[in-house]
Amino acid sequence: MKIDVVTLFPGWFAWFLEQRHVRNAEARGHRLEVIDLRATTPLQGGRVDDTPYGGGAGMVIRVDVVEAALAERYRCDPLELPEQRRVVALAPAGRPFDDALASELADAPELTLLCGRYEGFDERVHERLSSDVVSVGPYVLSGGELAAMVVCDAVLRKLPGALGHAESATEESFSAALEGAPEYPHYTRPATWRGTDVPEVLLSGDHGAVRRWRLERSRARAPRLP
Ligand code: SAM
Repeated sequence: MKIDVVTLFPGWFAWFLEQRHVRNAEARGHRLEVIDLRATTPLQGGRVDDTPYGGGAGMVIRVDVVEAALAERYRCDPLELPEQRRVVALAPAGRPFDDALASELADAPELTLLCGRYEGFDERVHERLSSDVVSVGPYVLSGGELAAMVVCDAVLRKLPGALGHAESATEESFSAALEGAPEYPHYTRPATWRGTDVPEVLLSGDHGAVRRWRLERSRARAPRLP
């Protein structure tokens, strides 16, 4: 899989690119590249934004600036891109990012993430240059960089070999293996801690009973999100 992140702050990703599961994914031929939106701006002095039509506070990232970055990167008319690859603009008002969408994106061979700043993108970036508009939650971050890392992290750990144990990513909260439910609780040593014991069944050695208990606890757990 090839992931491109388009951002005004490429430096934010230096730490992320060093993390183990990202490097594991890269060692298996997957790619995560960071593209500086400012590097290809057609505007004087490296400008990328302008004042909003209709007035109001803040600045808006121009559609022609995003167009130039995509044209340079993909050597095509960017209007054609949403038909060819997933181009995800990150925005608070977008489709909520969840495990199903992470799986969907992990199945795509190529993915572009557009990180906004300031008041966000000109709406035509969403409408004409993106295949998806995605939100990582109903709150406002200062920029799309952390949102892009959330998406990359959740997508990359679904790629075969990105995690140490192949099974770690298949049976997790919200996965199909758990019918979309949150994961069951985990315990490790000590078996008794300050008067609280690990559930007896987990010490029984009865794998069938452990499995039944885990599925039951998974179904019974309240979802963490409304
Ligand atoms: N004016 C926008 C609004 O009220 O919806 C907020 C813009 S925010 C300060 C700047 C950028 O951060 C957005 O363009 C987007 O790329 C990113 N961002 C902020 N919150 C986000 C969220 N919850 N999910 C995805 N991206 C987010």
